[in-house]
Amino acid sequence: MEYRQVVFNESTIDSLVCHSCDSKQHYVVATIKYAFMFLEYLPFFPVKKSIKISCQHCQTTYQNKAINGDLYKKIKQESFKFLKLIPMYSGLIISLILFLFWSYGKYQEHVFAQEYIGSPKVNDFYYIDHSGIKEQLRPNQKYLLAKVVSTNDNIVSMVYSRFRFTHKSSLEKDLRGGMVIDPRYFDQKHHQFSIEQLTRLYEQNSVLTVQRPFNYRLFGNVVVSTFSASNKKVRGGRENDQGLAFMQHSDVQSNVENAEKYFLQSATMGYSKGQFNLARLYLTSNRINKALSWLKKSALQGNEQAIKLYWHHCEKTENCEVSAFEQALSDSGFIVK
Ligand SMILES: [Zn+2]
Repeated sequence: MEYRQVVFNESTIDSLVCHSCDSKQHYVVATIKYAFMFLEYLPFFPVKKSIKISCQHCQTTYQNKAINGDLYKKIKQESFKFLKLIPMYSGLIISLILFLFWSYGKYQEHVFAQEYIGSPKVNDFYYIDHSGIKEQLRPNQKYLLAKVVSTNDNIVSMVYSRFRFTHKSSLEKDLRGGMVIDPRYFDQKHHQFSIEQLTRLYEQNSVLTVQRPFNYRLFGNVVVSTFSASNKKVRGGRENDQGLAFMQHSDVQSNVENAEKYFLQSATMGYSKGQFNLARLYLTSNRINKALSWLKKSALQGNEQAIKLYWHHCEKTENCEVSAFEQALSDSGFIVK
C-alpha cells in the first residue's frame, strides 16, 4: 500500500469569530490521506482526515485545540460528507466485486469438475498434481496433463502428457496453445482409475480441475483431433495431420491460418498430400498460381487427385500450359491418359 494526500473539500464558514480581527468569515480546507495500490488516482480507503481553518481577513490559522470541541466536530462532519466519501473506497469496492466474480468462477469450476468426474467422457482433460499420486518426484515434475481416452463400466482410462511441469499454469498454457493435438504430446501408456478413485483424488487435490472441450475447443483453441495420426512416420505426415485437424474446425479463421502454416511445412518437406492440401487451401482463397505450383509438385509424385485438380484449374488459367505439365508427368515416369 502507498499513500497520497489530496484536498478533499474547500468551504467558508461564519460560525467562528477571529481572535485577532473579529472577522466571522473563515476558510476551511479539508484534506484526506488515502491508501492506493498501483494506481495513484484509485483510492482504496481513507487513512486520515484533517481540516485547516484560517481567517479570511487576517489569515490567522487555527489549531483544532483552539476551537470548541463540538464546533470542531461539526465543521469536520460538514467537510467530510458521507456520500462524498464513498469514491474514496473505489479501489476496495472494485476489488471486492472482482473477488466475488473470481470466487464465483472458482465455484462454477468446482461444480463442473465434480460433474465431469461423476460422468466421464472421452477427451476430458485433467490437471493433475502428480506428487500426491506418485511419491519421490523431482520438484520440477509436479504437474501433468491427462486426457481421457476411454470409459467403460466405471473405469476411466487416461494418457499422461510426456512433459511434467513445475508450474500449474503451464497446463493451461499448453491447452491454450493447441499443443495437445500433436499425437506425440501424450504418452501411449494407459492409466486406469475408477470414478471413486478420481473423486478421492479430486478431494485430496491431486486432481486439480477437469476441463471438458466444447465443440472440440477449450479456451478458444482446438484441443481434440479426431483425425487418426497414421502418417506420422512419413516426413511431413505429422504436419499434414495437424493441418487437417485444424481444417476440421475451419469455421474459425485462426484455425485456417494455422492449417495453412502446417500444410506449408508439410509441403515444403515434400509430402505430396501436404502439397495437395496446401494447394486446395490456396484455391479456396483464389491464389491460383501458387496452388498450381504445389499441385504440380504433388502430381509429379504421382498423386492422382493432384493431377486431376491441376488439369481442371490449368485449363481455366491463361498462362498455364497443359502440354508442359503432361510432358513433365511422363518424364517422371507417369503415363498420361
Ligand atoms: Zn482574522
